[in-house]
Amino acid sequence: MPTSALREYVRTHAENRPGVYQMLGTDGNPLYVGKSIRVRTRLLSYFRAPAEEKAAKLIRETARIRWEYIPNEFSTLVREMRLIQRCQPRFNRQHKRKRMFAFVKLTREPAPRILPVTRAVPDGSLYFGPFPAVGKISRTVRDLAHAVGLRDCPGPTPIFFDDQLEVFGEGRTPLCMRAELGTCLAPCCGGTSSEAYRRQVVIARRFLEGRTRAPLVVLERQMQGAVARLDFEYAARVRDRIKRLQDFQEHLAAFRGRIESLTFLYRVSGFGGDSRLYLIRRGRIRGEFPYPTTANERREIDEAVESVYRAPEQGPASLAPHDAAEILLLARWFELRPKELKCTATPKKWLASGGIRPFRPRKRKAGGSTAEQAAPA
Ligand code: SF4
Repeated sequence: MPTSALREYVRTHAENRPGVYQMLGTDGNPLYVGKSIRVRTRLLSYFRAPAEEKAAKLIRETARIRWEYIPNEFSTLVREMRLIQRCQPRFNRQHKRKRMFAFVKLTREPAPRILPVTRAVPDGSLYFGPFPAVGKISRTVRDLAHAVGLRDCPGPTPIFFDDQLEVFGEGRTPLCMRAELGTCLAPCCGGTSSEAYRRQVVIARRFLEGRTRAPLVVLERQMQGAVARLDFEYAARVRDRIKRLQDFQEHLAAFRGRIESLTFLYRVSGFGGDSRLYLIRRGRIRGEFPYPTTANERREIDEAVESVYRAPEQGPASLAPHDAAEILLLARWFELRPKELKCTATPKKWLASGGIRPFRPRKRKAGGSTAEQAAPA
């Protein structure tokens, strides 16, 4: 569709309501996914962009625009994030904000590794985090790998556990210094059995889950040994490693606590009086309903609450890749808008009470600051 026809289409059909829009290319695939609380105004702004700007370039490549109305800003953010995750539109990838999070990845390989990465992808690995920046965790991840003896060489490095040597031949030599330094079990040359290596992988995983401090105990012994040898320089280096690993474990524990605290029902007032109720457990939306106005609707939601919140769930030790983005989004939403927590209720409170009051900002008083009020449910 020519640009002028696209603009006319938007002008005629789009409304100023919250929503998520997609610019589609000539092949029908999304080039860009965006959101706005005023869809019409936002879309029309693309057509006014100076020719050299990204928005104008996007419009030049756009063959079709589609949008969906969503009752509130909270939902538009979640919907936009999920669409971007699913479609990976080219303009979203190119123009995404520079801020990146880091994760610790425990790979799923014959001889697994722990690595700092910036993206969690569905490859069967376990992911821990997020951390604010990859640079800051690289050294700590290395400290952990060295303390438990896991390899950190490239993935395709040939692996020969000692129980395989009879088949693949003896006489292999380590491919790097770590074997000699005693910081790697050296599965590249039969330095360990698959079982012994696996045990160390379990220790690393349990450390990342906050369920053991075994790697710290190893380092504490090394530090004591260095002090006994009067090697204070080395003892100081080990002390620094211990401190980094302790901070690292605390950070993971704090984030697990944050995820756990994001467990409640959340009422959001939306466009045209469309009030919604979100069932959030451990930072993920598990259900969405129009806020109940009849006894039947209430009963239906109560059943969903029982099923969502009573189902046993594994501890939030590691993150599935698709969960990470949603958890971060929700954590940020409530961090920036702490007053929104007034519109939440724990499952227990919900089941015992009459509902959640909607939260409405009170109109600004003359000469005064904005106050907030809760209207009756
Ligand atoms: S000793 Fe072998 S397995 Fe260990 S990091 Fe070096 S190359 Fe990899």
